[in-house]
Amino acid sequence: MANQQKTPMPELKPNERRRSFSEAALGYTPELARKEAGRCLNCATRPCVAGCPVSVPIPEFLAKAAKGDFLGAYETVYAQNALPAVCGRVCPQERQCEALCVRGVKGEPVAIGRVERFAADYWDEAEREEEQPGPAKPENPDRAAVIGSGPAGLTCAGELARRGYQVTVFEALHEPGGVLTYGIPEFRLPKSVVRREIAKLKSLGVEISLNAVIGKLFTLPELFGQGYKAVFLGVGAGLPVFMGIPGENLVGVHSANEFLTRVNLMKAYLGEADTPVQKGKRVVVVGGGNVAMDAARCALRLGAEEVRILYRRGPDELPARAEEVRHAVEEGILFDFLSAPTEYLPDESGRLKAAVCQKMALSEPDGSGRRSPVPIPGETATIPCDMAVVAIGTTPNPLIAQMTEGLELSARGCVLTDPVTCATSVPGVYAGGDIATGAATVILAMGAGKKAAAAMDGYMRGI
Ligand SMILES: Cc1cc2nc3c(=O)[nH]c(=O)nc-3n(C[C@H](O)[C@H](O)[C@H](O)COP(=O)(O)OP(=O)(O)OC[C@H]3O[C@@H](n4cnc5c(N)ncnc54)[C@H](O)[C@@H]3O)c2cc1C
Repeated sequence: MANQQKTPMPELKPNERRRSFSEAALGYTPELARKEAGRCLNCATRPCVAGCPVSVPIPEFLAKAAKGDFLGAYETVYAQNALPAVCGRVCPQERQCEALCVRGVKGEPVAIGRVERFAADYWDEAEREEEQPGPAKPENPDRAAVIGSGPAGLTCAGELARRGYQVTVFEALHEPGGVLTYGIPEFRLPKSVVRREIAKLKSLGVEISLNAVIGKLFTLPELFGQGYKAVFLGVGAGLPVFMGIPGENLVGVHSANEFLTRVNLMKAYLGEADTPVQKGKRVVVVGGGNVAMDAARCALRLGAEEVRILYRRGPDELPARAEEVRHAVEEGILFDFLSAPTEYLPDESGRLKAAVCQKMALSEPDGSGRRSPVPIPGETATIPCDMAVVAIGTTPNPLIAQMTEGLELSARGCVLTDPVTCATSVPGVYAGGDIATGAATVILAMGAGKKAAAAMDGYMRGI
């Protein structure tokens, strides 16, 4: 039955988007948004809200959208979520709010993210016509510092500003946004969308200090010395992990982090930018998460003839969002499952010419139900390639921890925090997002930023 399925969202056709950095998913029209929002059953138990790490009152905003009150829908979301246009585009809703939607029991859940995205874009269109107010004046004399301007830091800063604090965000790069700006490509998350969400935060009075590497420019004790009463660390996990296999240093082997930063932040995607970026002809991308999908699809858009994802498990284990995998397949990205590189081979000039891959099988599920990849002895394949992108994970950059006495870390180098308050082992210092969890998701980082802001408020007020 039609009402058991999500209202499809218009998107560029695969052949229109495979060489274009324009946004692939086009978003709902007002009619489609009303139709989809109207699928909400408005259940008494509201399970979807429990699935949202920032507790957006989902049935309320959907009810407003179903009536065509899109500005009201937006205001309802924005009260709990400072980045709705971002989350509507990149949140893994299928594992969060939509996974718990009662409509999903007998059909497809309500497309909550698509309606959220529509309401945010609608608000932006309407608001653009009105004069923007100047930044709000902080009411509270206390100052807080936020290190890092990714979703964790931005959310924390916004929440503190709403509570009347003077907030300065220190960002190492020349543009704010963290992974939203330097990692996730334009065709999934246009940078204009990120900029406008950040502009809204600035209008709350948040100041952003760019090109400010904390740990080098100032240490945390120096920030306290400058009068900041509390500090939030939202510095992410941007240090790439490599496999440590022969040939990883060859010309042509890149970390996904570096490749995507060149393409996005340094605007290689625009074509006319003079950013040096390799445009491989035959590209392999190692990994199965969102980062791997993004790197593969960027390589394709930069002109690759063949892009192949090497993933050591099977299709059912791919950690990337289902929609991103579907888009990658439709665009012609090839998938070699149960395959892991063991060596990169050079040509006579020392550049990458092939990846040697070990074939794997999956073990029986362990106690946690997870199946591990196990090498099949003697089964290898050699894949010719002139470019390889390694997207197997990242860890936190150790700089701030090295410069901060007493900051306790986990064995994986993540900052240890209290699960309720996000407090670290150093008084007045809070942390959240990828720096505390390891590489995770936008919405989890935002949830941590929110929790930390509430606790920092209490700390600064002495409660
Ligand atoms: C390519 C890619 C695609 C992804 N796709 C998705 C997706 O579709 N959906 C999803 O939910 N999640 C996705 N993720 C994961 C998600 O983006 C992260 O979990 C999230 O951005 C973490 O937020 P954060 O604020 O903790 O850190 P980040 O976003 O990493 O931001 C940290 C910021 O701190 C700055 N910084 C670091 N050190 C310092 C310092 N010493 N001083 C000052 N500033 C510093 C950094 O420059 C950066 O701007 C993706 C990640 C990547 C890399």
